Amino acid sequence: MRNRGYYSGFGGAYVPEILVATFDELEDAFEDAKSDPSFRKSYEQLMASCCGRATPLTLAENLSERFGGARIYIKREDLNHTGSHKANNVMGQGLLVKRMGKTRVVAETGAGQHGVATATMAARMGLECTIYMGEVDVIRQRPNVFWMERLGATVVSVRDGSRTLKDAINEAFRDWMAHPDTTHYVLGTACGPHPFPEMVTYFQSIIGQEARRQVLNQAGKLPKRVYACVGGGSNAMGIFSGFLDDDVELVGAEAGGRGLGSGRHASRLAGGQGSIGIAQGYRSYFLQDGDGQMRETHSVAAGLDYIGVSPILAHLQRSGRARFEAVTDSEVVDAMALTMRCEGLVPALESAHGFAQAFKEVRGLAKEDVVIVNQSGRGDKDIFTVAEAFEDPGWRAFIRHKAEQYGARELHQGTA
Ligand SMILES: *Cc1c(COP(=O)(O)O)cnc(C)c1O
Repeated sequence: MRNRGYYSGFGGAYVPEILVATFDELEDAFEDAKSDPSFRKSYEQLMASCCGRATPLTLAENLSERFGGARIYIKREDLNHTGSHKANNVMGQGLLVKRMGKTRVVAETGAGQHGVATATMAARMGLECTIYMGEVDVIRQRPNVFWMERLGATVVSVRDGSRTLKDAINEAFRDWMAHPDTTHYVLGTACGPHPFPEMVTYFQSIIGQEARRQVLNQAGKLPKRVYACVGGGSNAMGIFSGFLDDDVELVGAEAGGRGLGSGRHASRLAGGQGSIGIAQGYRSYFLQDGDGQMRETHSVAAGLDYIGVSPILAHLQRSGRARFEAVTDSEVVDAMALTMRCEGLVPALESAHGFAQAFKEVRGLAKEDVVIVNQSGRGDKDIFTVAEAFEDPGWRAFIRHKAEQYGARELHQGTA
């Protein structure tokens, strides 16, 4: 009997008939790898030698003093190769692809971070790579498209539906269905049909394993709470899994966008905004209207802008093991600014959701207490969004200058 990956009724594998054998193959390969001690070892060695793991756990002394509550420790996934936790999953799946003897990978990407990480892995492991990206995102996230192509990937612009992440996922599945023998789909978060939620969590759990060891060494105790931002849920599942069996509160911060009342957000669990449905191959909470049509989502952080959420997180909420809160765009920008000024750390806008929620709550804890915030990635990629949010006049002048340069050059070429 196959375990179809249900977590209090969430999850499952709702896949077309034509992919059932491919999913069975993947599940078998994953189970086989998991039970082979040398596999986890080779994974950890790769993450050390190529990606710079273990990432540090940093005490944020100035922020802790400022709030006067619990001491705040930060898990530094921003220092992972390609600038976020994404590489943990991608490199792990890459090793699995090699074990299965496949030669090609496809992936979806929204903001482009998962696409860049996958293209990086494919270059290193000698795999052919195609990345599906909604047309809207191709335009919004041009720097990441540039890097994916330079890394040797083919980027396909998807023109279906809302031309964003969920459409890119559908297209990646279609490609996989057409080439199941040669191709593996490197899904980027702890969502999708079984075994993806479990498999992505397995690779991301390296975050929580390190963090638990580090906090015991450095603080001499377990944290009261662990905070992580939640897009699909992979960095949250990664750090939470280190503390599931401990008396530690797990807090997920979702994208509250312009506020839950505005309808312009991406909070599926917090505030009871999502409803249960089956989409993209799994059962979980989705942002949908009364007819089951998927709603438009919004977040200042492109990486949190998704309609669904990990079935394992839905289960942790239902069982009361984890709590979910919504953080608005403006709270996020404030938290990012404060973290930069106080600590010299530049969190990604996604990660800043976790920081903002922790900042709201640490005053209520004692000075002897400890919390951990997962800094899922670095904020360099967000320069366009952040400069706009801060209405930086020098930045606008720079963009205008660049545009004029291009305009002048094109004019020159046009008349030559
Ligand atoms: C992609 C991304 C996220 C959101 O994805 P999860 O699967 O929820 O972790 C969060 N932070 C960063 C920096 C990302 O790149």
